Amino acid sequence: MSRALAVYPGSFDPVTLGHVDIIERAAILFEHVIVAIGVHPTKHPLFSVAERMRLIERVVAHLSNVTVDAFDGLLIEYCAKKNATVIVRGLRATTDFEYELQIAHANADIRPEIDTIFLPSRTKHGFLSASLVREMAGHGGDVSRYAPKLVCDELAAKLEAIKEH
Ligand code: ADP
Repeated sequence: MSRALAVYPGSFDPVTLGHVDIIERAAILFEHVIVAIGVHPTKHPLFSVAERMRLIERVVAHLSNVTVDAFDGLLIEYCAKKNATVIVRGLRATTDFEYELQIAHANADIRPEIDTIFLPSRTKHGFLSASLVREMAGHGGDVSRYAPKLVCDELAAKLEAIKEH
């Protein structure tokens, strides 16, 4: 295991089994992992930052070296502030790759002492995204194979509440 403090950033709206897999593997590789929710003032997420944080905290409660946080502004400056030396990103398909490579290069340009590590998604999670889970659940689909049970329950409750408005 590396002694590094790693940051795993994302929107996690909501956290999926693909995310959980990356978090569990990063927790084995690094001494400590911060799952960091990037706050975008222009985006309209389904779950609030507080709700997303709480969901992730409960889903990773079995991992003693993982904490959950939120940040706004530049990810790379957040990492520097936390004294993190590694950014973890999950790679699904080649479509992720081009975007991720560009961001990794940009971050390295700003702070070369903080490196980006890519973990390949497991084959079974290769097509999985939070937006797919939201879409499927929104149309009444069963997402229990794609998100932790807790998330599925909260998703159903959230969609029901939206419908009633
Ligand atoms: P999503 O694309 O699901 O909305 P985020 O924007 O929150 O996810 O992405 C956070 C990180 O998790 C990114 O590095 C993304 O590539 C990775 N990720 C998302 N889904 C998966 C998955 N199914 N397998 C592996 N990594 C994933």
